[in-house]
Amino acid sequence: MTGRYTYGPVPSRRLGRSLGVDLVPMKTCSYNCTYCQLGRTPRTTIQRADYVPVDELLEDVRRRLAEGPRPDFVTLSGSGEPTLNRSFGEIAAGIRQFTDIPIALLTNGALFYVAEVRKACSAVDLVLPSLDAGDEETFQRINRPHPGLTLEKVVSGLAELRRDFEGQIWLEVFIIEGVNSSDEQVQRIKTCTELIGPDRVQLNTAVRPPAEREVRAAARERLEEICAMLGPGAEIIAPSHAFEETPEARAGKEEVLALLRRRPCTLQDLADGLGIHRNEAIKYVHALLDEGSILHRQRRYETYYEANPAATS
Ligand code: SF4
Repeated sequence: MTGRYTYGPVPSRRLGRSLGVDLVPMKTCSYNCTYCQLGRTPRTTIQRADYVPVDELLEDVRRRLAEGPRPDFVTLSGSGEPTLNRSFGEIAAGIRQFTDIPIALLTNGALFYVAEVRKACSAVDLVLPSLDAGDEETFQRINRPHPGLTLEKVVSGLAELRRDFEGQIWLEVFIIEGVNSSDEQVQRIKTCTELIGPDRVQLNTAVRPPAEREVRAAARERLEEICAMLGPGAEIIAPSHAFEETPEARAGKEEVLALLRRRPCTLQDLADGLGIHRNEAIKYVHALLDEGSILHRQRRYETYYEANPAATS
């Protein structure tokens, strides 16, 4: 089931059943990560703005929760960086008014040097930021951030968040083989995590098709070694199938188009039907819309995608 601003509940390894809430338009982000499963960021930004009508979004979340099933978390996330939505604190507080389900914020963690962004987390129970590098060069190489961001700014912002925020912080570190996987790199990441002091450090690697083809997954054994180096608060969250699956085995844009030629689908239908993550489905759907191969139609609260007869005839 998908609303205009909500999707799921989707199974999440970290959060159980998560009802996603999309706070920004596709790829509105301060980073352009090489591993992003949504493809490249057309133009990075650190400008916060009101991207969605708050009342309409809250009504969508309220309706989805009323319909059930009850998720384990309501997760502010989506197809870009949610803290770029200037109203995310108001949105979290609004959701808190009608549910006691914990609220999580899935973020790249870049903007916590802004006091307003830290303050906006007060209605959130769990913050899940990212940190993939312990030195500026690797930060630029992996995250390709907006020019206004430096690693030092990001790390000190996260450390300030730790001081201001009473909920849990689970820091995700994305390991790319040959880029941030060496002992030296891991030691530098560890220095940063010690400055930040998250409740957990969670290691991930390239499970889904990344923005850049050269991004390589770390082997399970290497992730285990890195986990041991980072200490007792660290754990691996990359699913074990990540180490068995080949990229060729996964569904791609052609499979999405083939399914849409057979029947109209929502994003969630595509993700469930093809066994891919919803974000991958978004990426392929946007590419197919751009090239005119598919169309979209709104039916009540759902957006359906279908093959464009003019393009297939
Ligand atoms: S992975 Fe997240 S932070 Fe990085 S470019 Fe994609 S949406 Fe932005």
